Amino acid sequence: MSTLIAGKWYPENSSSQYYATLIVDNVDYALQIAPYEHNGNVIKDHKLTGQWSQVSINERLGNTERKLILADGSLFTTLDNDAIDILIRRDINSSAGSKWNLRLHQYETKMSSVLMMLGLTVVFAIGFVKWGIPLTSQAVAHALPQSTAEYIGKQSLQVIDRYFLQPTKLSDAEQQKISSRFETRLKPLGGNDNIHYQLHFREMNIGSMSLPNAFALPSGDIVLTDKFVELSHNDDEIDAVLLHEMGHVVERHSLEMLTQNSFTTMIVMLVLGNPDGISELATGLGTALVSNHYSRQYETEADEFAFKKMLEAGINPQAFVAILSRMEDYSTGDKENDTTAKDDSLSDFLSTHPNTQLRIEMANKYSKCFDQGLTVCD
Ligand SMILES: [Zn+2]
Repeated sequence: MSTLIAGKWYPENSSSQYYATLIVDNVDYALQIAPYEHNGNVIKDHKLTGQWSQVSINERLGNTERKLILADGSLFTTLDNDAIDILIRRDINSSAGSKWNLRLHQYETKMSSVLMMLGLTVVFAIGFVKWGIPLTSQAVAHALPQSTAEYIGKQSLQVIDRYFLQPTKLSDAEQQKISSRFETRLKPLGGNDNIHYQLHFREMNIGSMSLPNAFALPSGDIVLTDKFVELSHNDDEIDAVLLHEMGHVVERHSLEMLTQNSFTTMIVMLVLGNPDGISELATGLGTALVSNHYSRQYETEADEFAFKKMLEAGINPQAFVAILSRMEDYSTGDKENDTTAKDDSLSDFLSTHPNTQLRIEMANKYSKCFDQGLTVCD
């Protein structure tokens, strides 16, 4: 049985091309070239013959033209890749010659190295996602200049203001009292002059419920809600929470979180130094911060920062536990009339914030140091 393949023929050392049909049987081939003019004469019945096993075929590249070098060195090209593939498979199956087995072997060798490289790539990719990105995110987040952190922070605050917050109902005097204490008592403990801390008072509502909350943006902007201030019993409780939030800023937790989730964008920002394209990220960061989606590890780090600074500022670490428990009671307590808030993700300040037991243990440890009048606790 013969196979007919249509294509073009290119004689060696010539720029001419001719339509031709390649006819292949089990052992031989014949190339029937269409009539053509040569030096004023029409040439008909031009035929080339040879052994099919002497033809070399290039590998298939999608649906581009297949190139066959014929036994006499001339070139035949065809778009009929499928026919060529069928012939190759036929030859392999019939083991017509060692040449075909060799070709198959080369194919297989190539395939196995391709598969091996693919396997290695997958392993690297998984490893990078699992260990590389968290490690690199940390490095990237800490390498970003403070000006970028500020830009991200301001953008996020705009988003949060637009979607989650309302103007405060606290009196000017009340705000002023907390702000001036923050300036004189807490800011000097921040340990980083590049961070421009600033307090913002806002009302935060879910349905008819006013939510107690506090969160910090990478810029050093810290938002306190009216209900949080209302639930506090004294200055120390407010300051303890503010120190915890300062801990998140100093440790660049929100930037790390942002980098892990938007790795490429952050890398580009780091490399190019311009924060274009941050607007979309700011929405995500804003939402995450408002609902306190920090990991336990971040919370523990911020707690540790806060407890250390509390000792320096002369604040009893129990103040921190007291205000957090009161906020938790408020958020999960008797609110039969207001069931909407319970299920809402924005009301989970303490359910994601704590590992309460661990937090209390750490507070107790620092309280002992506080009771002994120590400013450092090991
Ligand atoms: Zn926190």
